[in-house]
Amino acid sequence: MDLGIRGRTAIVCAASKGLGRGCASALAAEGVDLVINARGAETLEATAAALRGAHGVGVTAVAADITTPDGRAAVLAAAPAADILVTNAGGPPPGLWSDWSREDFIRALDANMLTPIALMQALLPGMMERGWGRVVNITSQSVKAPIPALGLSNAARTGLTGFVAGTSRQVASAGVTINNLLPGVHATDRALALDEGVVKAEGVTMDEARARREAGIPARRYGTPEEFGAACAFLCSTHAGFIVGQNILLDGGATSATI
Ligand code: NAP
Repeated sequence: MDLGIRGRTAIVCAASKGLGRGCASALAAEGVDLVINARGAETLEATAAALRGAHGVGVTAVAADITTPDGRAAVLAAAPAADILVTNAGGPPPGLWSDWSREDFIRALDANMLTPIALMQALLPGMMERGWGRVVNITSQSVKAPIPALGLSNAARTGLTGFVAGTSRQVASAGVTINNLLPGVHATDRALALDEGVVKAEGVTMDEARARREAGIPARRYGTPEEFGAACAFLCSTHAGFIVGQNILLDGGATSATI
């Protein structure tokens, strides 16, 4: 299926690896020119070169911390009239509800709620003026069903979800859609770090930790960045113009719910 977005320009945040890279790669495969971002310049440049080589699209790499005002300004300056925005940043660390300080919450809110909101506030007016735009926010299954050790993520991402619920309905008439993709466990460095947490807490090997987590997923495996990227590219396509303000779970069935 031709997604109808060849020649469009996308900003994909936090995209040197993992889910962000999966999204960038799927968009590049559809002929979308990219601005990709991450803090570490070396991995980011290597990803940019790989995407250019594989898909022949323009890829600008902006090494910056997207959770800072300067970082966001640098990314936006590279594509001030982007047609597509994929927001993403690292997830907050796991912990216990009683231990988090105000500063911990502010950091989580900055990264996983206020940064995507600031990026949308910067780009939505132009998208609306031009009559077309797509925003996909990478959030988490923790929005639908809380993950107790990830209380900072549960809290910050739910705040973003509330903002999107209202805002998506205010911009849809201008041809702009905003939706959220909710990853369950995917095989990325982030998942490995959480496996390591299980290793430490329960004294098992990495293979056992992964097998335990896979056993809790009806699909009995972790998702892949490629699957995640394909879903993102579809939401950014011309065909997805009637999908507005949705929260789409990609979790292999892990969240047991009827709707
Ligand atoms: P990952 O494999 O660790 O990749 C994270 C990417 O984000 C890297 O490119 C990293 O590069 C970049 N990044 C991190 N912090 C950044 C910042 N402040 N500014 C700019 N770039 C930044 O992680 P992932 O698995 O793809 O996860 C992506 C998001 O999905 C996270 O918020 C995570 O919590 C959430 N999520 C993941 C899963 C999963 O199973 N993988 C499940 C639910 C939710 P640098 O380090 O060089 O900046």
